[in-house]
Amino acid sequence: MSADVKIEDVLVPLGEDYPEIRASVRRICTGYPGVYWRDLEAREGYPTEFVKALTEAGYLAALIPEEYGGTGLPLRAAAVILEEIHASGCNAGACHAQMYIMGTLLRHGNPEQKARYLPRIASGELRLQAFGVTEPTTGTDTTKLKTRAVRDGDHYVIHGQKVWTSRALHSDLMLLLARTTPVDQVKKKTEGLSVFLLDIGACRGKGMEIRPLKAMVNHNATEVFFDGARVPAENLIGEEGRGFKYILDGMNAERILVSAESIGNARWFTRTAAAYASQRIVFDRPIGQNQGIQFPIARAHAETVAADLLLRKAAALFAAGLPCGDDANMGKMLASEAAWHAAEACMQTHGGFGLAREYDVERRWREARLSQIAPISTNMVLSYIGQHILGMPRSY
Ligand SMILES: Cc1cc2nc3c(=O)[nH]c(=O)nc-3n(C[C@H](O)[C@H](O)[C@H](O)COP(=O)(O)OP(=O)(O)OC[C@H]3O[C@@H](n4cnc5c(N)ncnc54)[C@H](O)[C@@H]3O)c2cc1C
Repeated sequence: MSADVKIEDVLVPLGEDYPEIRASVRRICTGYPGVYWRDLEAREGYPTEFVKALTEAGYLAALIPEEYGGTGLPLRAAAVILEEIHASGCNAGACHAQMYIMGTLLRHGNPEQKARYLPRIASGELRLQAFGVTEPTTGTDTTKLKTRAVRDGDHYVIHGQKVWTSRALHSDLMLLLARTTPVDQVKKKTEGLSVFLLDIGACRGKGMEIRPLKAMVNHNATEVFFDGARVPAENLIGEEGRGFKYILDGMNAERILVSAESIGNARWFTRTAAAYASQRIVFDRPIGQNQGIQFPIARAHAETVAADLLLRKAAALFAAGLPCGDDANMGKMLASEAAWHAAEACMQTHGGFGLAREYDVERRWREARLSQIAPISTNMVLSYIGQHILGMPRSY
């Protein structure tokens, strides 16, 4: 769409948009039923076959332009892919980042970097699905992160630590945010941070160590320790010192995409809860006849539809090149809450069977909880709304 498009002209798709993509994703997902995910979790495994199927269908390359071997689809189509995966009872957490981390390379990489990496990421030959931002001591206060990258000839030498780096043991490349200029030497704390495309295979065992991090969900989380890892200077993305801005540039797309997973989760929970409530007979009638069971499911459905509409708006604004941060942030918060309310309703509807592993409710309930914390926690979104939308005083 042209740059001078007005918000009044932006159209928001309703209903089952991208029906062929939805049908095809559902077909793939039928091959990966609950038992597949339960078994994976029990052994903290990686869904290699599932990721391969999505890669071969071209879905993980949805946002890579065709000139680099991707499918060049709009953000909304990518969101639909993730939504359907989750609505089908599967989990895209093992590979969703392959869709969007490359956005930083695409927007800010130089032509050589793009030509070298993007086609191989599009084909799945290279996995770029590790994103090293969060650190143990600084958390959400990203600009205070302590990992340092110091120039030494034609390399940068990295010292520091990352935590919650998902999929680092299942990725060839990591997008790393590190400080190149000490915070007391920059005018603004957002300056002096840089982004690197780090070759995990080349660095592991040479100043870089990755340890699995046991967690409530099977998200292949890790801790990454840097003690003198050397990254070629040619792997710096964009300009040195502007990395924080580059990471922020990708946030809206990431929020819209992960929120689509929440919408998919919510759809799975309400569908599963409604079906169980309709067939489970207690006191000689379906439990769903009781409003105490029926209403929480109905309310979660209404919340899901509302969050979905906001996210569709955010994606339409994104596609039109218009500011979408307000809607992406609010949509993210509302979608994660709708999914959680649906998860709670589904758990409660199933009574004791909600806790039985074979029903998949307890696993998906745990997975749904994550969305209110990562990639951004609810309080941070509320701060954004208070400060940027409502103009109230800055809280941090
Ligand atoms: C399974 C999982 C996977 C993850 N994957 C990745 C990944 O791949 N890459 C990566 O870089 N990170 C990843 N993360 C990290 C995630 O983005 C962070 O956990 C999240 O951003 C919150 O940061 P924190 O855990 O340090 O919490 P903290 O920053 O310590 O905050 C703790 C709580 O306090 C609240 N809080 C903090 N400051 C304020 C304030 N000023 N006002 C109000 N409330 C406040 C927060 O909202 C939060 O609820 C992952 C996390 C998990 C759990």
